[in-house]
Amino acid sequence: MDITKILHSFGENGFSYSPVSIPIYETSIFSFESFEQFQESLLSEFDSHLYTRGKNPTVEVLEKKIAALEKAESAKLFSSGIAAVSAATMAFLKSGDHVVCVKDAYGWTNRLFSQYLNRFGVEVTFVDGKNPDDFIKSTKSNTKLFFLESPTTFTFQLQDLSAIAEFAKDKNIKTVIDNTWATPLFQNPIELGIDIVVHSASKYIGGHSDVVAGIVAGNERDIRYIFNTEFMNIGAAPGPFEAWLLLRGLRTIHLRMQKHMENTLKIVDFLKTVKEVEDIYYPLYENHPQYELAKKQMRGGSGLLSIKLRVDSIEKIIKFTNALKIFRKAVSWGGYESLVMPYAATNREGLTEKNKIVRLHIGLENSEILIEDLQQAFFAMKKSGF
Ligand SMILES: *Cc1c(COP(=O)(O)O)cnc(C)c1O
Repeated sequence: MDITKILHSFGENGFSYSPVSIPIYETSIFSFESFEQFQESLLSEFDSHLYTRGKNPTVEVLEKKIAALEKAESAKLFSSGIAAVSAATMAFLKSGDHVVCVKDAYGWTNRLFSQYLNRFGVEVTFVDGKNPDDFIKSTKSNTKLFFLESPTTFTFQLQDLSAIAEFAKDKNIKTVIDNTWATPLFQNPIELGIDIVVHSASKYIGGHSDVVAGIVAGNERDIRYIFNTEFMNIGAAPGPFEAWLLLRGLRTIHLRMQKHMENTLKIVDFLKTVKEVEDIYYPLYENHPQYELAKKQMRGGSGLLSIKLRVDSIEKIIKFTNALKIFRKAVSWGGYESLVMPYAATNREGLTEKNKIVRLHIGLENSEILIEDLQQAFFAMKKSGF
């Protein structure tokens, strides 16, 4: 389906008065005309409006649009991205199962697999993931799930989605990918054979740094199963107002992503010329070690990248960060504004190799202003005795 169709009116039928903006159905319960209708609804909550924890008309419009954008049969909105990650994986795991997970995944995803699931007897192997063999060689007889994040959102390593999906299908292993970075506009993992796609909608889907939410998309059978297990039992249900904010953000996702990409490519061009930048981690940078794979499985790139600073002290990183005026110091990403997140701020370990990495989110501001801001921050850092 054409993206205009999806963003314009898809999934929006059924509302009285033909509203152009989707009404916020701020109701927790729905009532019935008869015992028979009431019973029917109680017996299949996935398919009917009974209670807003399960199904809500405002939320449903967003779910239909995201499913269409991801080329999935079905999608479910969650109250956060990490709730979506947890539900999509835990639904398919039990005690005694084994998971292979990419090593550099989002922090709380890593924590889920490295600590939380151990409590329930789930065994996990972490792999680099750049080579499909990393997954293949780690597979055991009890391996039930592969967790991918491509690219990873700090060091920007990719996994070969088709190759991994093909192997997993053959072995009956469920594949789940976090597709937050690329968004459904630039990468559709389901088309490449992956079973389930998760998103933190708090990033580009919302796009305005004003809502926390998550998405799980996949075939109807899997989504129905996740709904009837982790979704309804753990109950990370989104509110109708959050869904409305996401619908409002979604209308411009194609414009925003294009501008994030344009700005980021300009910033990368600038960063290439900066002596104080030792390395640039961005999949669409032609010197990225997996540039060819990036072009093969993605149609574009978003605004998040990392750089490694050529520094001999932690003070230089602090100086650089503090000198930035337009780039704001904050976690997360995906909104209008450019952001800086030095890895060194996440610990007190001093000047390790990893602590030289600084993550930047390139927002929708004028790229010249962003370059000027970076330029003066590099200058301030150098002046402090580089
Ligand atoms: C932010 C993020 C998450 C978690 O999403 P929340 O909405 O913050 O719960 C998961 N994966 C990636 C890649 C993220 O960037």
